[in-house]
Amino acid sequence: SLPGNAPGITPIIRKKLMGYVGFANLPNQVHRKSVRKGFQFTTMVVGESGLGKSTLVNTLFNTTLYPPKEPLAPDAERSQTVAIQSISADIEENGVRLRLTVVDTPGFGDFVNNDDSWKPIVENIEARFDSYLEQENRVNRQKIVDNRVHACLYFIQPTGHALKPLDIEFMRRLHTKVNLIPVIAKADTLTDDEVAEFKARILADIAYHNIHIFQAPTYEMEDAETMDEAEEIASKIPFAVVGSDQVVVTPDGREVRGRSYPWGVIEVDNEEHCDFVKLRQMLVRTYMEELREYTNDVLYENWRTEKLLSMGVAQDSSVFKEVNPALRMQEERVLHEAKLAKMEAEMKMVFQQKVQEKEAKLKQSEEELYARHREMKESLEKQRLDLEEKKRKIENGRPLTPEKGTQQKTRKGFLRP
Ligand code: GDP
Repeated sequence: SLPGNAPGITPIIRKKLMGYVGFANLPNQVHRKSVRKGFQFTTMVVGESGLGKSTLVNTLFNTTLYPPKEPLAPDAERSQTVAIQSISADIEENGVRLRLTVVDTPGFGDFVNNDDSWKPIVENIEARFDSYLEQENRVNRQKIVDNRVHACLYFIQPTGHALKPLDIEFMRRLHTKVNLIPVIAKADTLTDDEVAEFKARILADIAYHNIHIFQAPTYEMEDAETMDEAEEIASKIPFAVVGSDQVVVTPDGREVRGRSYPWGVIEVDNEEHCDFVKLRQMLVRTYMEELREYTNDVLYENWRTEKLLSMGVAQDSSVFKEVNPALRMQEERVLHEAKLAKMEAEMKMVFQQKVQEKEAKLKQSEEELYARHREMKESLEKQRLDLEEKKRKIENGRPLTPEKGTQQKTRKGFLRP
């Protein structure tokens, strides 16, 4: 037998075929199919308001996903909690359709006390995992909508110092649930040296707190070129970005997306000026699929395992019942019987209560009757005694003190001797 075949199993005969069959076309089939189905990608943006989140999203996807924001008047009423808002757009490029969803978190870091700012965000990410898990458990799971957050752009204020406690708290809470991509907002407000120093400080803080940020994968690199690309992208993290949805004219007459200053123009798409291009490469051009895969295979999978384990044996047995109709029917019958018994007991109780009420009423009217009877008896007795008294007096021959009418009548009718 051939080496590697287990005993008892029909040996596999291996042959080398040279004829053309056509399976080399498999990648193309996969490609066509996924193009037809389209892609779903959800990215979250987190950071204090005014750090340029909306502008950057618009710049990244070259759309006006976010209309320009009106600055809040100082006395305007602000909400007191972090809100979660999503906007979806279908964008198409060379026949490839992408449903892009951006989840914004207005309010994050904007309050006097931001201790719990991360909470609604974690809850939102977990609710999306929950929804996915629920869809997976359905009988029909043909049309699963993937609303999980595949990447989270975390905007760091360009202070040039270090991460703030809120930044660290947020990343510590989120790094096991989402692909974190930290970016330095409005990098045009820092000099090149300041950016370099700030990046080093941020990376040191992140390492110190054991925070895991998304890394471009370096495994199974096909060729040196891809390897170089991955390394180059990785070397720019945290990306120092500049956003702009304006087209401006450079001193040498080119029209570019950028920001115009008295001292010159910052070009968004120029790698010499900022890391915007590398960020876009990371998020869209090169690693969108990696981000989706890592979300599914690692982040979601870990969360799912933890969730099912935390539900313990109860979860396992209920899953078992779901697939075992006999057990399920038995359980339903028991439940039904319990319900009937409960209804019966309740009816009995109501009945007894009614009987007691009726009895009490009857007893009361009986007593009332007795009392009336006694009263009437007493008054009759009194009348009888009165009459007897009168009779006795008449028999004794003592004339009654006649009343006026009676006296006359007596005189006329029965004249006494
Ligand atoms: P959001 O509240 O985080 O969504 O911030 P917006 O995108 O609404 O931007 C707030 C302000 O910052 C706007 O006036 C933008 O024009 C400006 N802005 C956005 N991106 C940049 C940037 O990269 N550099 C500079 N200097 N300003 C920016």
